[in-house]
Amino acid sequence: MDASTLLADPDAIRLECFVSEPHSVTLVVRAAQRRPCCPKCGVASTSLHSHYTRHVADLPWHGVTARLELHTRKLRCRNELCERKVFCERLPEVVAAYARKTVRLNAALTLLAFAMGGEAGARAACGLSLQVSPDTLLRRIRQFQPQSHAPIKVLGVDDFAFRRGQRYGTILVDLEKHQPVELLPDREAETFAAWLRQHPEVEIISRDRGGSYAAGARAGAPHAVQVADRFHLLKNLLDGFEKFLYRRHTQIKAATQAVFHSPQSLKGERAGAEKIPTPSAAQALLTAQRQAKLARREHRYRAVKELHRAGLPILTIARRLNMQRCQVREFIAAESLPQRRARSAGCSPIYRYLPYLQRRWEQGERSSRALWKEIKSHGYAGAEVTLRHFLQRWRVSSSTEIEVQTATRSLPGRAPSVRRIKWLLFSPEKRKEEWERQLADELCHRSGEIDRAQKLVRDFHRLLRERRADELQGWLGAARASGIGELVYFANSVGQDRTAVSAAFVNEWSQGQVEGQVNRLKFIKRATYGRAKFDLLRA
Ligand SMILES: [Zn+2]
Repeated sequence: MDASTLLADPDAIRLECFVSEPHSVTLVVRAAQRRPCCPKCGVASTSLHSHYTRHVADLPWHGVTARLELHTRKLRCRNELCERKVFCERLPEVVAAYARKTVRLNAALTLLAFAMGGEAGARAACGLSLQVSPDTLLRRIRQFQPQSHAPIKVLGVDDFAFRRGQRYGTILVDLEKHQPVELLPDREAETFAAWLRQHPEVEIISRDRGGSYAAGARAGAPHAVQVADRFHLLKNLLDGFEKFLYRRHTQIKAATQAVFHSPQSLKGERAGAEKIPTPSAAQALLTAQRQAKLARREHRYRAVKELHRAGLPILTIARRLNMQRCQVREFIAAESLPQRRARSAGCSPIYRYLPYLQRRWEQGERSSRALWKEIKSHGYAGAEVTLRHFLQRWRVSSSTEIEVQTATRSLPGRAPSVRRIKWLLFSPEKRKEEWERQLADELCHRSGEIDRAQKLVRDFHRLLRERRADELQGWLGAARASGIGELVYFANSVGQDRTAVSAAFVNEWSQGQVEGQVNRLKFIKRATYGRAKFDLLRA
């Protein structure tokens, strides 16, 4: 074997011999550059001044610690104009000046530090026979100098939370290279503008619809094209739609009940539900708890309404009743006590077939495949594996208690949450189950407003998908004319941001990958157990 393959830079150093000890190996290595250059002036020299020896740690070999005993030279600089008279020969591929570790060892440690963070990285390093402390690894991240970025043409910007609801920062992503380029310590317009002034090369800025980034981009890069992000556009619209539906919850409740209690939609299964035998003590306790909760909520609702009538501002009401402001707002906007959002488990489509499944289970049918085929013929659209997971609970425990809990959660006629209804109205027909289609039809039939709002929301989504910038103006007009407060508000805010929103319709860039980088950041933050302060996250 050619021993030079072991060396980081076979042109610059030559292997003389190995010295092997029980737990380590030392490579005796001599610098072999023909004409080393002065680091100051760059002129090559052959005039030897002296020899000296350095010891540096290298990558381990099969779990054995490896070191270099590096014999290098000092040379005289013969350049009259150079102020350096004597210089040490440099080996940039092997080891940095004054470093105690080789370049490749440092690269490995930096890699570990970035991949795993301080503590976990140090444990992994120990397993690989790299002796290193967590703090050293963190230092590697801090010292890491990212290669200076090539000019950024397309920039994505979004915020992320250092601490949710308290402190936010800004992440900037190069959308062409899919690389985060910078973190800013806050999300102020001025900070962003200052960064942009240092990067005049930015041509396109994709941002969410937050006002401060728009202002920052205007101030810092007036020539750049601003693109509102499609994802955020749609999200804002759907948020407004959901708020509107909350106001309409009485109609939703009525429609849900009409659909859920109509005999043809349930094929008589619901009738069996009332007959499920339930151990009464557990059941009674559950019901009592639920009623107590409901009573407390009603009491709060009335208190909010009274204080609001008395003219108190929302913030004061929230503080006095120890509530969230958004909940106070929700109560004020509602015509009667809004229902709680149902828990997701409760509205899994399986729960609708629970009475039937229970009956068949008691009759002795244990095959999930057979049961799946049966409920499928009744309209269940879920996968067999979902049912199998569900039935697993019954298999594991034959104790009735678990069955009772699942049974009470599927209270017949329980309405799906407003959020669920929002998705149900928004999503395309072919992805819906039978009851969902019925419910959507019923809602639009009962309320002209819901019907109009649904059409507008879907239309907007279609325009966005098909990039119909030419139809945007017409849509805005229709939304303003709809008389639905939330949609009018959305249309007005879009109108104020017209250029960027129109750009979103024609431009290919979107914020998707910025969201991805934000998620990555969250992961890193958790993996470092809170040691990741701004400087570390930035790296
Ligand atoms: Zn020189």
